[in-house]
Amino acid sequence: MSGVATKCRTCGDTFLAKQTYINHGRVPKYCSRPCCSVSKRHHRSIANKKELKRLYDIRYRARRRDSLLTEKRDYYRANRDRLLSKMAVYRQTPAYKVRRRAYLSGYWNPEKKSVKKDYDRKFGAQKKYGPLWEIHYLTVLLNEEIKYRMSNYEIRLHNKTNNKAQRRARNGEVKRGYA
Ligand SMILES: [Zn+2]
Repeated sequence: MSGVATKCRTCGDTFLAKQTYINHGRVPKYCSRPCCSVSKRHHRSIANKKELKRLYDIRYRARRRDSLLTEKRDYYRANRDRLLSKMAVYRQTPAYKVRRRAYLSGYWNPEKKSVKKDYDRKFGAQKKYGPLWEIHYLTVLLNEEIKYRMSNYEIRLHNKTNNKAQRRARNGEVKRGYA
């Protein structure tokens, strides 16, 4: 085989490039297709790739938000009966039952539960109160903390809302039935 000895930029081996390529000013850089492919890699780590994909997905969903919603809704409306009957059949299979049992026993561990609870609270507050959601969220947390630290009796004692009926009767605000 005739040609001009050329050095591959990836593996460093010498290979014979066709004279005609060189005559036309197109000197081959790589000895083979795999070497060319390697040269096009970005050499990114898995973590870096995952991060880039995550950011891309956010942009993608934001860009196609409306069309994604309508597409999914239209698909569901068009195929509703078929999908539901298919799912009903699948729910009866042993494979589904095994998967569901595994999901219920392993998935909802206490840590996951608390994370989900917090997420749901934030989501619900944002849905209900919009930009003021954080106030509602913090109020709920505060309430929970108070109820954790004080009993119902202590709270009523502190707010002076205990024995209301007795106090009203004593003050003559209301009359007791038997008096
Ligand atoms: Zn090569």
